[in-house]
Amino acid sequence: MLYHSTTNPAHRVDLKEAILRSLPPDNGLYMPDTLPVLGPEFWAIWRELTFQEIGYAVAHAFFHEDVPAAALKEIVEGTLSFDAPLITLAPGDHILELFHGPTLAFKDFGARFMARLMAWLTRGEDRELTVLVATSGDTGGAVASAFHRVKGTRVIILYPKGKVSGLQEKQLTTLGDNITALEIDGTFDDCQRLVKSAFLDRELSERLNLTSANSINLSRLVPQSFYYIHSARQLPEGIEPVFVIPSGNFGNLTAGLLALQLGLPVKKFLAATNANDVVPAYLKTGDYQPRPSTATISNAMDVGAPSNFARMQALFGNSWEAMRGKIEGMAFTDDQTRAAVREVKSLYDYEIDPHGAVGWLAARKWRAAHPGNATITLETAHPAKFLDVMEQEIGKGVVEIPERLAILADREKVAIQLPADEAAFKAWLR
Ligand SMILES: *Cc1c(COP(=O)(O)O)cnc(C)c1O
Repeated sequence: MLYHSTTNPAHRVDLKEAILRSLPPDNGLYMPDTLPVLGPEFWAIWRELTFQEIGYAVAHAFFHEDVPAAALKEIVEGTLSFDAPLITLAPGDHILELFHGPTLAFKDFGARFMARLMAWLTRGEDRELTVLVATSGDTGGAVASAFHRVKGTRVIILYPKGKVSGLQEKQLTTLGDNITALEIDGTFDDCQRLVKSAFLDRELSERLNLTSANSINLSRLVPQSFYYIHSARQLPEGIEPVFVIPSGNFGNLTAGLLALQLGLPVKKFLAATNANDVVPAYLKTGDYQPRPSTATISNAMDVGAPSNFARMQALFGNSWEAMRGKIEGMAFTDDQTRAAVREVKSLYDYEIDPHGAVGWLAARKWRAAHPGNATITLETAHPAKFLDVMEQEIGKGVVEIPERLAILADREKVAIQLPADEAAFKAWLR
């Protein structure tokens, strides 16, 4: 299979280049030349398959020309070492918990698959692969955990000093071994700029065998489509789910579109955002106006220029009408989100994190207008990751802190301090 750039379809590369390069030189996004479809033989038995079997079928549909079956099976099984349970709050109101992985956010699915696929693509090479990643919180932790002690790889995480939560920082800075954390005296945008400057330096990029682990990497999206199929089959036969996706860079929603393309029956996708409502506004007006992001309490969704937007457009043949036929956008304020956290707790005794709460609001609005519909809201992170908001809304000591997060509190932070300066960063890399 070859992969092309959304900006220039004539720019085509093989799987190894699409994954290790991450981004085409023309700033487009890589898409497979043909989008895979799962055949009738899969849809005849999909309700009886395990999560791992579904994952393998999807990964096989995408990668069978390039990765042998046995290797692919190992990659999928290594990725899916934890479940994604579907919880029912009330009839038709379902929550898909995606936070049972090592770092308690859905990003574990993508990061774990990517780490394993990259290790396979570079097997037998004696050059070490250097993975650079800029993070505003959750991505860095998931990537660090996924690559920790993976032979032949080294991970360098850049995070903005004082701008990630205490526990998030511990997830980045306490693993050691092949993981190095750089605490940058600047913003998340500075971190991204530094990463970009290293890639643009051909000599440095070649010498260190640099690769990127950000969310535009196709190998992070494919495994996220597994859980759309896995959850939909748990609804009664004949019910088409409405998927509700709390969104920032829209990688998760794009993965849902891949599942749709594979043949999954989906009634609608709801793109739920906080005040950063660039995509809901586009769906309403047809006018796409990216802008600087606004800070909210669902901060993993504070994105003003969603990086997967070009892929979403490509999946709908660049037609606004086609996209709005399948995706509906809804945006909610922080006050509404806080009220939803309280309401879900008091109505259902369920602790929903602020990101999931944005989704739940969209789901409720949809069901009110479409009685009888079943919504599946993606709960993208464990509420313990956003403890301050949870405590303000439902009280202290209510959210249980999972062991794997709690033990980090006593670990010692190890980070290298650097200014937000390209020359200093490159000198350090060299
Ligand atoms: C990253 C993240 C999101 C946004 O996901 P996208 O794929 O970027 O749209 C939502 N919630 C949480 C908790 C996240 O970490």
